[in-house]
Amino acid sequence: MAEKIKGKGVISGIAVGTILLAGQNLDSFIVNYKPGKKADEKKKAADALVKVAENLQKSIEDFQEKGLKEQAGILEAHRLLVVDPGVSEKIEEEFEKVDSAPVAVLNVYEASAQMFEAMEDEYFRGRAVDMRDVGKRIAKYLLGIKEPEIAGKVIVAGKEIEPSVIAGLPTDKIAGVILGAGSTTAHAVIIAKTRAIPTVVGVGDGIDQMANGDPAILDGGTGEILIRPSAEERKSYDEKIKKQEELKAYYATLKTLPAKTLDGAEVDLVANIGSPADVDAANGFGAQGVGLFRSEFVFMGKSDVPKEEDQFKEYKAAVEKCNGNLCVIRTMDIGGDKPLPYIQVGEEENPFLGYRAIRISLKREDLFMPQLKAILRAGKFGKAAIMFPMVINVQEFLAAKEMVEKAKRELASEGKDYSDDVQVGIMVETPAAAVMTPILAKYVDFFSIGTNDLVQYTLAVDRGNAQISYLYNHFNPAVLRLIKRTIESANKEGKWAGMCGEMASDPNAAILLLAMGIKELSMSAPSIPRVKEKIRKITSLQAKEILDKVMEMEDGDEIKEYLSKLEI
Ligand code: PEP
Ligand code: MG
Repeated sequence: MAEKIKGKGVISGIAVGTILLAGQNLDSFIVNYKPGKKADEKKKAADALVKVAENLQKSIEDFQEKGLKEQAGILEAHRLLVVDPGVSEKIEEEFEKVDSAPVAVLNVYEASAQMFEAMEDEYFRGRAVDMRDVGKRIAKYLLGIKEPEIAGKVIVAGKEIEPSVIAGLPTDKIAGVILGAGSTTAHAVIIAKTRAIPTVVGVGDGIDQMANGDPAILDGGTGEILIRPSAEERKSYDEKIKKQEELKAYYATLKTLPAKTLDGAEVDLVANIGSPADVDAANGFGAQGVGLFRSEFVFMGKSDVPKEEDQFKEYKAAVEKCNGNLCVIRTMDIGGDKPLPYIQVGEEENPFLGYRAIRISLKREDLFMPQLKAILRAGKFGKAAIMFPMVINVQEFLAAKEMVEKAKRELASEGKDYSDDVQVGIMVETPAAAVMTPILAKYVDFFSIGTNDLVQYTLAVDRGNAQISYLYNHFNPAVLRLIKRTIESANKEGKWAGMCGEMASDPNAAILLLAMGIKELSMSAPSIPRVKEKIRKITSLQAKEILDKVMEMEDGDEIKEYLSKLEI
């Protein structure tokens, strides 16, 4: 009988493979390491930074040659964390406290990791893993530790999973991911999501029951994991695996088909991304562009504001990969709850209601202007749009729009090429914005409804609080009314409305949104086929009838239940 472990299934699918434990413990190596003279150790550490950066560069080129752009992108982010001049300075300083090169390196990256960990935002907390990953990579080089050989398909498991473990493995080698921590926005989970790798999180100490090389089965839907399954137990999954393969093959047939209802009403299905590399994965699922590039990812893991030129390269790459489809770049959504070392926010009682997102951008021209210029320049290489987060009133939009015009003037006077044809819109993610959409629609080019925050602010329910998650429902009638109002306001003014919150990936929600007149749904790319399938099975009239019925209902749970029982 297998060892049974239960976690939370976050990316569905059955995975069969052998366990590969991530997160090697270096303690015994450190104890046995004999440091030389301090000056020698300092030199060793400095040389290791150079050598590891070179090795990373080689791996990056290798991945690029094989077309594995996503892996290349992650390793490039890690390479930047190695060559960052601030790091070598801090390592040099650390030698005032310690004598050994690997310890100095580990301490410096650990300190940065702890800084990220102290952040309230789950995503940024997840970046601590990247820091530790890079520190370990350099320490392993100094300690002479080699990586294990891998045969066959693996299920990567760890209390925390270093992104380089996943990035360093060929895509077809990873069957599944098991994470001890409960985070759904850990980098490892984000990569797994863009690649549709079955994933279970939150197994806690369950990881201790696994050993390298153990055969295992994982169900990313139910969260069940079987370690060392018997032949019989293995067989019981055959039917599910067969169905999964059939579904995958069926979804592949949908890739190039439009998201059109039976009577021809069409919606654009596009992707949410965090880096240009994600566009490649998204294209594989038939995405028709990008509806949300979370640009704060470009600002993270750096010791200073990324320069216009560096940002330009990232945005240009994303825009180009969209092949003429629209790439909506959201200006940085950073603030009290997701601080960066180079942005002083100060202590806040309610960071989610604090100095953040567009509020910072409007005050800090030194941050906002290079970003706007970089996006406008990237627009020359395809079709780009600028989107402002957390807007609550017309004045904010107008002020931000004025900054866009100023950025254009500055670019013109600097003789830099830019696109004059970049749409400018807003996220509708505060109730104030949603209520004001009839007015806002006169000014913006588009709305994108951010339901992750809109639900949170409308219902006064923290989006990350498990204790009250039963209240967090995008079908709540109050939320649905704000969404309907937003879409209708846009259409009335001849503008377009899309959605980039998680609700957009719910096929049942798609029926309602379609009937409300939405033009674009943006989601993590592997959800695209499911949503497309639903849209292709209904008529506009059916959708309209369902919406009418739903708008008469008084309770979110009732609506959810009703939609889940529809036979479409
Ligand atoms: C949202 O709020 O719905 C959204 C897409 O933005 P984020 O999840 O980055 O806050
Ligand atoms: Mg948001």
